[in-house]
Amino acid sequence: MDCLFCKIIAGEIPSNKVYEDDFVLAFHDIAPQAPTHVLVIPKAHIPSMAAVNEENAEIVSKVLSAVSKVAKELGLEENGYRVVSNCGEYAGQTVHHLHFHILGGKQLDLKMC
Ligand code: AMP
Ligand code: ZN
Repeated sequence: MDCLFCKIIAGEIPSNKVYEDDFVLAFHDIAPQAPTHVLVIPKAHIPSMAAVNEENAEIVSKVLSAVSKVAKELGLEENGYRVVSNCGEYAGQTVHHLHFHILGGKQLDLKMC
């Protein structure tokens, strides 16, 4: 499948990994928008939040647990952080494999849109 993040999971494209288990991979974003900017993704190809359903909810829950764990390990818990998942065109989703951005390490802009 021609999916950038599936290629990263397969090791065909290198990434700066911060966490990995059987279901989840987390790696530093190549174009960080905050001092800490990590992407957390399921190893299964789920295109976006729009494809999350009862069938894959267990995987998504593992991804969200990893978001919390990774944020803690990166030392973001004390001061806080933001979790973002862009879904579809209006949100500017560029990679069509579900991912959660973890953004932290500074006081973030409060603007949401
Ligand atoms: P989105 O715009 O929400 O779909 O997010 C896609 C993210 O993937 C962007 O923040 C990109 O900077 C990031 N990205 C694209 N290619 C890579 C790569 N090879 N390694 C790490 N992050 C990437
Ligand atoms: Zn994929």
